[in-house]
Amino acid sequence: MEQVRLRFAPSPTGYLHIGGLRTALYNYLFAKHRGGKFILRIEDTDRSRYVEGAVEDLIESLSWAGIQHDEGPFLEDGKIVERGEYGPYTQSKRLDIYRKYIDLLIEQGDAYYCFCSKDRLDRIREGQRIQGLIPKYDGFCRSLSLEEARERASEGEEYVIRLKLPHNRDIKFHDMVRGDISINTEDIDDQVLLKSDGYPTYHMAVVIDDHLMGITHIVRGEEWLSSVPKHVYLYEVLGWEVPVFVHLPTVLNEDRKKLSKRHGDVAVEDFMAKGYLPEGLINYLALVGWSPEDNQEIFTMEELVEAFSFERVAKTGGIFDINKLNWVNGHHIRNCDIDVLTELTIPFLKEANYIDDEDVEDKYSWIRAMVQTVQEGISHLSEIGDRVDMFFDNEITPEDDDALEMLTGQQVPAILDALREELQGIDEVDEEFTKGIMKRIQKSTGVKGKNLFMPTRIALTGNSHGPELTSIMYILGKQNILERIEYVEGKFLGK
Ligand code: GLU
Repeated sequence: MEQVRLRFAPSPTGYLHIGGLRTALYNYLFAKHRGGKFILRIEDTDRSRYVEGAVEDLIESLSWAGIQHDEGPFLEDGKIVERGEYGPYTQSKRLDIYRKYIDLLIEQGDAYYCFCSKDRLDRIREGQRIQGLIPKYDGFCRSLSLEEARERASEGEEYVIRLKLPHNRDIKFHDMVRGDISINTEDIDDQVLLKSDGYPTYHMAVVIDDHLMGITHIVRGEEWLSSVPKHVYLYEVLGWEVPVFVHLPTVLNEDRKKLSKRHGDVAVEDFMAKGYLPEGLINYLALVGWSPEDNQEIFTMEELVEAFSFERVAKTGGIFDINKLNWVNGHHIRNCDIDVLTELTIPFLKEANYIDDEDVEDKYSWIRAMVQTVQEGISHLSEIGDRVDMFFDNEITPEDDDALEMLTGQQVPAILDALREELQGIDEVDEEFTKGIMKRIQKSTGVKGKNLFMPTRIALTGNSHGPELTSIMYILGKQNILERIEYVEGKFLGK
């Protein structure tokens, strides 16, 4: 079987949008599912939208997400280097190639010089708009002789090159998501292929590159679907085979609108900054617009590669549901190796001022225990501060009236006395201490079960629920527990 080659072809206009990441992911999953290649190509022919540093950002975001390309630009020691046999993979470095095909199309009579000014084009468009017509070039320069056009161009007159579409012809193609599509050339514009700045338009460059780079499947957002007829026509006049098309439904927000920056986070780097794991984000994004054959919801990248197919991509927009993302990401946090998770969490704990560099040096296993203790309950790492907060404030506040009632129960002073006494007999809280402590307090006070555990927990954290008491004691350590006991006694038990 022919080796499949798929590409992700972003324009470096800023950050990587979450919808773009999903497009990259589907390309990658299918390429890997079929044992093929995944290529990154940079489409930077629109110089007015070019953003410095955006290429680096794209590469970093993809590699963070675990979507590793086989060919294209890579970052090495902070520098961009291209690897692969089909390069260059950056369109601005391929201008000679496009020019060659532009000349061929002109020669063949499939493209023509157009000298119309912006003013004229605006006027035509406005006229069409008033008549309720689809705005379209009126073909004014189509009939210029090539000789005359070349002469005007050589005299320095500004021009573009346009595609010369035949009149009244149905252009047909198949899309794996949308099925068979047919569009009449009367409804399509004579697309500009080469702009007056010498750069090709997207439409020209994309066809040339996809062909020359041996792309077998074009997978991208559905906003490009309406451009396909022009591309198909270009393939035809260039005598090239048309690749398979797969147009993905747009990723929508909960109001079924396009996800945009105005309505919250859309950049991959926002999700990185919030402490989503790449595994979680990728797993969730795969499900926005694609569904597996069974009801499995938690996937590793390998499992996604194994299960993915275009047949199960939805026709309508996938909804980006942050709660579902949190749920999926929470699973991946729970599945994460505790040492890996601790490393990932340290920057968030530092940022929130719970720990500093010295703590990381001296008290790594204490940090690790703290992270492990709250691992269960977090859906992204920036929540960690809220969760560990209970270990840092010795001035306990009972979370509600029930907690206050339990804390002021009759047997509580005896429980706290017993705990203090036990603590006074040790240097530091270790596993041996925590293992038997509740049994020993039970023995000396005669209080057991809920009546023992609940007030102890509330005295130490203010909450009636939470992590294991033994973990809480270990993380707090002797001094903090003593301070908490004293505070509770003073504030709530009238001592
Ligand atoms: N450069 C286009 C974009 O930024 C890519 C379209 C395509 O994949 O053909 O969306």
